[in-house]
Amino acid sequence: MSKVLKSPGTYVQGQNILREFDRYLQGMGKRPLILIDPFVDTFVHPILDRCFAGKDYSVVYETFSGECCQTLIDKLAVAAKSGGHTCVIGIGGGKTLDTAKGAAHYSGLPMVIVPTIASSDAPCSACSVIYHEDGTFDRYLFLDASPNVVLVDTAVISGAPSKLLVAGMGDAMATWFEARACRASGKNNQVYAKPTQAATNLARLCWENLKRDGLAAKLAVDAGVCTEAVEVIVETNTYLSTVGFESGGLAAAHGIQKGFTHIPTLHHQPHGFNVAFCTLAQLVLEDAGEDLKEAITFSRSVGLPVCFADLGYSEVDPAQVRTAVEKACVPASTIHNMPFEVTSEMVYHALIAADAYGREYCRA
Ligand SMILES: [Zn+2]
Repeated sequence: MSKVLKSPGTYVQGQNILREFDRYLQGMGKRPLILIDPFVDTFVHPILDRCFAGKDYSVVYETFSGECCQTLIDKLAVAAKSGGHTCVIGIGGGKTLDTAKGAAHYSGLPMVIVPTIASSDAPCSACSVIYHEDGTFDRYLFLDASPNVVLVDTAVISGAPSKLLVAGMGDAMATWFEARACRASGKNNQVYAKPTQAATNLARLCWENLKRDGLAAKLAVDAGVCTEAVEVIVETNTYLSTVGFESGGLAAAHGIQKGFTHIPTLHHQPHGFNVAFCTLAQLVLEDAGEDLKEAITFSRSVGLPVCFADLGYSEVDPAQVRTAVEKACVPASTIHNMPFEVTSEMVYHALIAADAYGREYCRA
């Protein structure tokens, strides 16, 4: 069985790099179709206008609205082809980026991704999460290729609320523990191959970076500044975490998180918040006591949830949790990438124990 590492072609990160956006569009033609989030359009659009001025570009902007659904993706893919566009660029949050990635995929054009928050793995992954028009989950769209270019302007990202950066840290915290489990079990990563040394070690780096710079980054963003710690955490949340999970592999944390989508209160929490708590449950399953303590201490320091109550789920309904763990253990779940057999009964006990540990720490 071969080893595969999937990654964006080029990853660029730095403060105010959007001002020289065209530098990174070499070979992508002069007629981009830009899908932009309405929340960032007012301040990003003028930066791009200044950048493209006098450079022979013919740029068409579309504002993202509605849902990242098949209808919108198809409409944009048709517009991209019939309008003679040379690449598709997505600028904004996860749904805008996933829509742009889908449109690039169906139109066969190069894709350039510009995240404006660092809360998820959407920017660098070769996958779009597709929803129905009413906002309910439809399916995962696995793309033929990762984005050609991912451009991360940390001046923009550090201006977003720190809660988003912290949610990204929750998702990144799971990366090492899941990649470690996947390597121990010898199971496949998310691109249906074995993990390379590079992928497993990038996943390990996520956890080291979070412990060293996570709190400093959150405090800097709260204070309205962008420091080297912020740079490290943005790269961790955006690049390392994505390559780490896609090519390093997923395991129990994301498997349990899938089950959480069946508990209405938890379904509305940011993905990274749920994943952070599910990571604690994975560590209980592994009986990894020292790692569990470290993960709880880190989570508490940056404001990630360590118990159900932190996720707004104070009245824990055992029947609901049992339904969630059944869903977490369906045959296709990544929970079966653990290096031992996992049953829904074990996951139920692990979740209740993780909740108890977390509450104990909150009291201390
Ligand atoms: Zn995730």
